[in-house]
Amino acid sequence: MNRAPIALVLLLIALSLVSCGRGGDRPNVILVTLDTTRRDFLSPYNSEANTPAIGRIAAGGAVFDNAYAPMTVTRPSHATMFTGVYPRTHGVLNNTYHLSDERPLLAERFRDAGYRTIAHVGTGLFQTASGFMRGFERMNPADEKSSDATQGVERALASLQIDDGRPFFLWLHLFDAHFDYKPPVEYLPEGEWARRVPQVNHEALRAESEPRGGDVSLAFYEHARAMYAAEIAHMDDGLARLDDWLSEAGLRERTIFLVVADHGEGFEQGIFFAHAPMITEPGIAVPLIMRGPGIPPARHDELTSLTDLAPTILALAGLDPLPDGQGRSLAPLFRGETVDPAPVYFAYGADIPDEVLATRERRVAKNEIRRLAFGSVDGERRTDLDPYHFHDGIVWDGWKLVVREGEPVALYDLRTDPQTRNNRIEREQDRARDLGLLRRDYLARIPESGSGPPPVLTEEEATRLRALGYMD
Ligand SMILES: [Zn+2]
Repeated sequence: MNRAPIALVLLLIALSLVSCGRGGDRPNVILVTLDTTRRDFLSPYNSEANTPAIGRIAAGGAVFDNAYAPMTVTRPSHATMFTGVYPRTHGVLNNTYHLSDERPLLAERFRDAGYRTIAHVGTGLFQTASGFMRGFERMNPADEKSSDATQGVERALASLQIDDGRPFFLWLHLFDAHFDYKPPVEYLPEGEWARRVPQVNHEALRAESEPRGGDVSLAFYEHARAMYAAEIAHMDDGLARLDDWLSEAGLRERTIFLVVADHGEGFEQGIFFAHAPMITEPGIAVPLIMRGPGIPPARHDELTSLTDLAPTILALAGLDPLPDGQGRSLAPLFRGETVDPAPVYFAYGADIPDEVLATRERRVAKNEIRRLAFGSVDGERRTDLDPYHFHDGIVWDGWKLVVREGEPVALYDLRTDPQTRNNRIEREQDRARDLGLLRRDYLARIPESGSGPPPVLTEEEATRLRALGYMD
C-alpha cells in the first residue's frame, strides 16, 4: 500500500472520531405522543379520516397495524414507552404514581450519547416531580404545560432552533384529543350542533343526558365524535408545521419521526366518553408510525406493544437498549428480517395493589365513570363490559383474552371480529384455556416491582405453551 491511501485512511478515521465525539453522525429523533388518539381516527388507518400530515409521514415510513398500549392511562403508558417495561414492572400504575429514580430512561440514554434532549408536554401530569423529565435538558418553561397543539409545536420549534451542533431528541406530547372536546373555533364542525354546543364537556354531557334519564341522543353522540375528530385535525396541522420545518431546515432525511398514542378513547364500545377503565380495542389499540433514515415505507402487521418502542428508537439511533427491557427492537423488520413473535399484555386496575384498589383508585375510577357515563345512545346500549370491575388480558395470534379479576370472561377472534362484538369463550374453551396459560406465563416474565420470584410452570403447562409456538 502506498502512502497516499494510508494518509487518506488516517484522515477518515480522524474525521469519524471527531464527528462521533459530537454525536454528529446520529439521526435526530422526534417522538410525538398523541394523548387519547384512536388509530381509526387517523388517515393511515382509515381513509375517511382527515389527518393529511400524519398520512404524509406514514406514506414515507413504517405503519404498524397491530400496536397496543399496556394500559389506558397516561402516566403508566408513557412510562412504558420511556422504560421499555410493562406497568407492573416500572410500578407507575396510575396517574398518581411517580417514576422510580432507579429506572434508566430513554431521554437519559440520548443525553448521555451527546444529544440535546427537549420535552414539550400538554398536560401537568409530567411535571418534574413525576420523574418523567429526568434526562431532558430543556422542557416546557417552569413545568408549564402547552395549552394546545399550536402552542406545543411553536414551543418545540423555538427549542429546536437553538442549534449547538448536537443531534436532538424531542418528545412532543399533545393533549388536545383528551376530553373535554373543545377545538379552536376554526376547527369546529359545520352545522347547528357546533353552534349550540361548541364544547363537549361535563356540563354539556349532563345537560344532554339528565333530561333523558342518563341517555344521550344519536345526534349528540355524533357531535361528540366530530368534536374529537376536530381536536385531532388540530394536532395534525401542528405536525404539518413541524414536518414542514424539518424540510425547510434540511433535516428531514436525518430525522427519525415517530407518531404514537398512549391509548385510545371510548365511543361505540364505551358507555361514556373516556378511556381510563377500558381494555376494549378502541382503548388499547394505538397508532404507531415511524419515518426516517433506515426505515423503508411499508406496513407491518406484527403484534407490537409500547414496550417495543424504546428498544426500537435506540436501535435506529445506533444506541444500546435500556437494561432489563421487556420489549424487542422492531428495527430488523426495516432490513427485511424478522423479529421474535411475542404476545402483548394489557391491564386496567389488575396491576393496582388490592389495598389501593379497595380505596382511592377505585373511588376515583367510579367518580370518573359517573361523571362521564351515559346509559345508551338513543336507547341502544353500546357495551356489555362492566366498568366497575378491573380487567387484564393478552393478545396472541389474532385472539384476545379478557380476564376480569382473575376469571377469564371473554375471548375474541380479532381477525374476523375486530370490533369484539362476538364473545367466543364458551365455544372455544380449549383456546381460552391456552391463552389463559400464556397470560399466566407472560405475567411470570414481567415481574411486579417489589414482588417475590415469579411462579414456575409445570412441565405439562410448558409443553402446552411450546405447542402454541410461543416458548422456545
Ligand atoms: Zn393519556
